[in-house]
Amino acid sequence: MSTNTSVFSSTSFFQSDLWLFTIYMFATYEIVFWLCNGFLIYIEMFDIPSIDQYRIQKHKKKIRFQPDMVHLMIKRTIYHQMSLVFLGPILYYIFNYVCHVDIQGPRPPWSTILFQIGLFIVIQDTIFFWSHYLLHTPWLYKNIHKKHHVYKQPTGVTAILDDPIEGIINQIAVWFTLVLLKETHIFTLCLWVAIKLYQIVMAHSGYNFPYITTQYWLPDLMPGALAHDYHHQHSNSNYGSFFSIWDQLMGTHRLSTSKKQIN
Ligand SMILES: [Zn+2]
Ligand SMILES: [Zn+2]
Repeated sequence: MSTNTSVFSSTSFFQSDLWLFTIYMFATYEIVFWLCNGFLIYIEMFDIPSIDQYRIQKHKKKIRFQPDMVHLMIKRTIYHQMSLVFLGPILYYIFNYVCHVDIQGPRPPWSTILFQIGLFIVIQDTIFFWSHYLLHTPWLYKNIHKKHHVYKQPTGVTAILDDPIEGIINQIAVWFTLVLLKETHIFTLCLWVAIKLYQIVMAHSGYNFPYITTQYWLPDLMPGALAHDYHHQHSNSNYGSFFSIWDQLMGTHRLSTSKKQIN
């Protein structure tokens, strides 16, 4: 259950739900983000043939040979990291307005956690597909989504580099499920942050890795980096997030062509 949150005493502030929520969410985000991107930056900097064989856009030079692009990515990643400081407290108040987030109570049973994670995935995938589809209409593309598409050769950090309005739309897709839930737990939310972040960073990795990616196990249902890398190159297909279901229904699934690209 939630504790009383007094801001007048520093001891109680550091035990408050607001503080613990912000720290848990921020720590989960930073650990997953920098573990994945640390690895991707390392293999960008050093040529390792056994790993480079999995690069999707092998016909292009690595990004480290494009100084303007590297400079833009570093600048925007710093801005994004700074914005996260404000995001935690804002999300805390929004989440507790639409749903109760249990911070200090015992972890719920795994059946509850997995059910809620499943809902998060399905609802995020649906809202993301349709909002992304609309962001590719001419006006929205030119004024908002183009900022994310300057990266024709995506890499991990580009997953979160976009226009602030698109950032808000994506956050709504990620968290909309909370409107349907009466109660959730910080453990479930942190697990969802880790899963979602791993999914988008790997989709932008620029590599078709075996074993550690969804496309290795479920290439048609969850095409991951194969689909999203193709999306960054051509902009006219593969609008989905986790699954290819909406793309298959709308006739925008281009997996076979992207498979050819990597072979
Ligand atoms: Zn992207
Ligand atoms: Zn797009």
